[in-house]
Amino acid sequence: MAHKPGIDEELLAEVAAQNQKKEDKRRRHAEYLRLYKAHKRATDPVQKAKEAVYQKDYTTRNLKHIVSRNKERYKANKLRAVEHMGGTCVDCGGTFHHAAFDFHHVDNRAADMVDSWLHWTWERIEAELAKCVMLCANCHRVRHYNQDKE
Ligand SMILES: [Zn+2]
Repeated sequence: MAHKPGIDEELLAEVAAQNQKKEDKRRRHAEYLRLYKAHKRATDPVQKAKEAVYQKDYTTRNLKHIVSRNKERYKANKLRAVEHMGGTCVDCGGTFHHAAFDFHHVDNRAADMVDSWLHWTWERIEAELAKCVMLCANCHRVRHYNQDKE
């Protein structure tokens, strides 16, 4: 915030310190509430049921928004993942639209083709990508065809 000349620097520092204190207090309180609610949910079945109903209502009321937000997050993560994996197919070396790339789980066939994990946090996605190679849709098909022949 710009200040007029002549305003005491000490006073400004004090106001900043007070604001910081308020912010710290607000954070502590938010953390306390979070823990309290978690405790309530774990120990009070009525509270748990109430929250479940609220959550369901919330989802119903905001479904459009939630779906579009999830789609956006998925797309952002997919783009980031494609970039993270080098941007090219490991089999043919081709560069394609991000929708044409799959993450092939090298040692876990059950996990393959299910990319719902792209909704996770980036840290978890990165850990999952470590188990994958990136293939274009074409090469992915061929890999599975060859695997199935084995
Ligand atoms: Zn390829």
